[in-house]
Amino acid sequence: MPTVKELLQKSASFHNHLCPRQVLGVRMGLLAGQLLGLTVPQSDKRLLTIVETDGCFIDGLVVATGCTVGRRTLRVLDFGKVAATFIDTHTDRAVRITPSANSRQLAKTYAPNAESRWHGYLLGYQRIPDDELFTVQPVTLEVSLAEILSKDGYRVNCDICGEEIINEREVRREGLTLCRPCAGERYYRLPDEPAAHPIPAIWLETEPDNVSTCQ
Ligand SMILES: [Zn+2]
Ligand SMILES: [Zn+2]
Repeated sequence: MPTVKELLQKSASFHNHLCPRQVLGVRMGLLAGQLLGLTVPQSDKRLLTIVETDGCFIDGLVVATGCTVGRRTLRVLDFGKVAATFIDTHTDRAVRITPSANSRQLAKTYAPNAESRWHGYLLGYQRIPDDELFTVQPVTLEVSLAEILSKDGYRVNCDICGEEIINEREVRREGLTLCRPCAGERYYRLPDEPAAHPIPAIWLETEPDNVSTCQ
């Protein structure tokens, strides 16, 4: 298994510099391998990582786990959290790991002479033991692995825009096969289209009687 130092060098060259969140990513990825009993960085696709933010943290995770978006072993859900769930796809065992609530405080203790708060995190995160640095929760996925991973070679076309949809990401509605943008989740508009003001789904699900009084 590569050392933290070797992985940080790799991550830093990938990321153009070294920063504290890459340290968290590298150490968290190594810990996940240990907890699930899997060799990391992996060369196969057994480990699936679902990460809850983009940014520096991911580059550390990628070098430590071998999980990548391109190999479909890394999913990004942008919740803005430095957290990730690691799933052994052979056993369905999953652990979610976050930095512990006092990890920032601990960095000061473990790197008391750091020249700045940033350097304190950079060094402290390398020194704090795993059980103090991280909080580990065993979890069960709400979406099945079969739905997340889908199947090779599956594709359909959207009945509205005609574009191809892979990995069973289509929506079936009133006999139509729709891509998610055409089903109402579009994040862009074309030059000749007016700005849309989508109504949040939660309002649409409310009974009309309950929305009769406008404040
Ligand atoms: Zn960075
Ligand atoms: Zn479409």
